[in-house]
Amino acid sequence: MTVRVRFAPSPTGMFHVGGARSALQNWIYARQQGGVFVLRVEDTDAARNRPEWTEGILSALDWIGIERGSYEGPYFQSANAEQHRAAAQKLYGLGRAYYCDCTREQVQARTGSQYQGYDGYHRDRNLGPGEGRALRFRTPDEGETVVVDLIRGEPTFENKLIEDFVIARGDGSPVFLLANVVDDMIMEISHVIRAEEHLPNTPKQQLLWEALGVKPPIWAHVPVVVNEKRQKLSKRRDKVALEAYKDEGYLASAMRNYLMLLGWAPSGDREIVAWSVIESEFRLEEVNPSPAFFDEKKLRAFNGDYIRALPVEEFIAACTPWLTGTDTIAPPPWQPDEFDPDAFAAVAALAQTRIAVMSEIVPNVDFLFLASPLVDEAAWAKTMKEGAAELLDAAIVAFEALETWDTDPLKTTLEQVGAERGLKLGKTQAPVRVAVTGRTVGLPLFESLVVLGRERTLARLRAARVRLP
Ligand code: GLU
Repeated sequence: MTVRVRFAPSPTGMFHVGGARSALQNWIYARQQGGVFVLRVEDTDAARNRPEWTEGILSALDWIGIERGSYEGPYFQSANAEQHRAAAQKLYGLGRAYYCDCTREQVQARTGSQYQGYDGYHRDRNLGPGEGRALRFRTPDEGETVVVDLIRGEPTFENKLIEDFVIARGDGSPVFLLANVVDDMIMEISHVIRAEEHLPNTPKQQLLWEALGVKPPIWAHVPVVVNEKRQKLSKRRDKVALEAYKDEGYLASAMRNYLMLLGWAPSGDREIVAWSVIESEFRLEEVNPSPAFFDEKKLRAFNGDYIRALPVEEFIAACTPWLTGTDTIAPPPWQPDEFDPDAFAAVAALAQTRIAVMSEIVPNVDFLFLASPLVDEAAWAKTMKEGAAELLDAAIVAFEALETWDTDPLKTTLEQVGAERGLKLGKTQAPVRVAVTGRTVGLPLFESLVVLGRERTLARLRAARVRLP
């Protein structure tokens, strides 16, 4: 059997990290089995679809390594509308579906106050087709539907508990359950690997496969992704858009490694591993069926580890879009001609150990490229207190007298300025740092002063001094 899997997102907004996880699992499974990965955009809900959302999905997939041109598709569900209708009619012709014009209220009135599902009212009433009449699938009265699921064993559903569900609406349009099955048939999908949220649909869909006379696929329902409160990740409450992580400066390599840890782990207690290791070690059958915790804090730390592991030239290359404002959501605060790649290269290794996401590179180095630093006023108020003016005066004089503008002499000199006032180096550094960089935290001070240079450092110390009483 040729393995053919598909990823079938609905373009109804942002691209969910849980979707990205399922896409990667499908992708790896296909490669391991020498199979084919198909991308199908489920765009039949016209009111909720927009072309730019489809484009968003394609570029998000690209970003995590599922590149355009390397898979079959994208196909669009809307292109198969005729086949969906034909399948609905085939089921009607076979006597496996019947028309029904009951409103929910009518069913409710018959079954009691709470709507518990359809009561089968039109099962044997032979209502013909007509405007406003939905087609319902006639589920078997007896027996069980056993779903073969690579992750969950054999979830079994009693057929009599499955209501006669709608397969085509009153306007004739087939519903998702049927369209999705028909597409999988057309695309000869052998394995449906998708999120656990769809498990309740599966017995219904399997019954459709059987009724249409085609062998159902093998299923694998991968775990739901939850937040720290064990709630399903929701776009209203949680940061779920893959794009948001990209925009903040998560590395694609870190992101896809982390996504693969949702419900699975490589051998030997490792978490950070090369993609090739994941590709060879991942086993769909080993995915834990329990909800998977998407831990944003852990992902952040994980990304920091990935950043630190980059060779410095690659780190510089990864920073470049942020520093030049190319393809990032936030342009840097300096003008393009103010950016100095050599100055950046001189501090890159220092910055690399300090950031967890790429966007943080900008506030760490902006003091190097702006004519005057962006002053964090809270930091200024906290640092430029009594004694700061006099300390800056002393630092200016001492720095002016330096013969060599380098880290060691700068440090020794400032240490001495502090010692004369009974201050430890940390306390002495603080006003100098705020004067020069505008912030209380950042790259190591003396290395920063060396790269900034004598003239600019002194000019900033003098400018800060002028601001003080
Ligand atoms: N379009 C469905 C979704 O985005 C996918 C259903 C499936 O994978 O079968 O949830």
